[in-house]
Amino acid sequence: MTSVVSRPNATPLSEELQQRLNQRLHTAAAAAQATDPKPPQSTAAPIITLQNTCKTYPNGSQALVNINLQIRRGDFLFVTGPSGSGKSTLLKLLYGQERATSGQVIVHDQDITKLRGNRLAKLRRRVGVVFQDYKLIPRRTVAENVAFVLWAQGFSRKEIHRRLWPTLKMVGLQGKARCFPDELSGGEQQRVSIARAVVSTPPLLLADEPTGNLDVDNSVQVIKILKKLNGIGITVIVTTHDEHLVRMSNHPVVQIRNGYLRHMQR
Ligand code: ADP
Repeated sequence: MTSVVSRPNATPLSEELQQRLNQRLHTAAAAAQATDPKPPQSTAAPIITLQNTCKTYPNGSQALVNINLQIRRGDFLFVTGPSGSGKSTLLKLLYGQERATSGQVIVHDQDITKLRGNRLAKLRRRVGVVFQDYKLIPRRTVAENVAFVLWAQGFSRKEIHRRLWPTLKMVGLQGKARCFPDELSGGEQQRVSIARAVVSTPPLLLADEPTGNLDVDNSVQVIKILKKLNGIGITVIVTTHDEHLVRMSNHPVVQIRNGYLRHMQR
């Protein structure tokens, strides 16, 4: 990470929203020990719309069948269901790793199934993703893992510095900035991966089984951080097969079984 290029077309958020989220990140860092905010009541426009969406893999595996789902800006949604039911596939459609076989997948007002190349890359910058297995770069420190995203998007050195520390603070890792991933616990590694996913302040965060490898305490901590991010305006979608975690929360939940989605009453 030696040179920092300028950031010509990289405007993943409107300036106003970006400033607001930056400001909130700072505030949230200061309030990191405070109790969870209440889930915001969403009256906003949809950030995601799936309409009659199907996904069949080339080997014939029907992962998603006729999905209809709308998620509004500021929502926090749990997606539950047993292993192999289609949860990861749903998220993969939302960040463009997989393409729907039919139907629409509207993210940030664009049908992602129709985007290619630069336009897809640009949209993906507005979506933060957290994975069950963290996907950290092993020979990079915590700070470097998080800063790398900003560097790759062309943020200036000054801006990287400005964003890095409040974000690490928010996930409670400011004291581990110089550690390497293999010097951290699983919970800490997952918190690095959350920091990496949100340091560029994307309006949408997708977390695919973020607690799948964690014990109960660390799982609760991770969900608390995700709620806190939701509290500052980021739309959050979390997949989990852990019903206990879902029951602990009053956020909306949908269930996927054998590729079919069901809206659950709370
Ligand atoms: P979950 O996240 O709920 O465990 P997935 O979305 O990973 O479920 O998988 C849903 C279904 O799609 C499963 O039957 C799985 O075997 C199948 N599947 C997932 N990825 C692929 C792939 N790349 N190729 C073929 N089948 C796949």
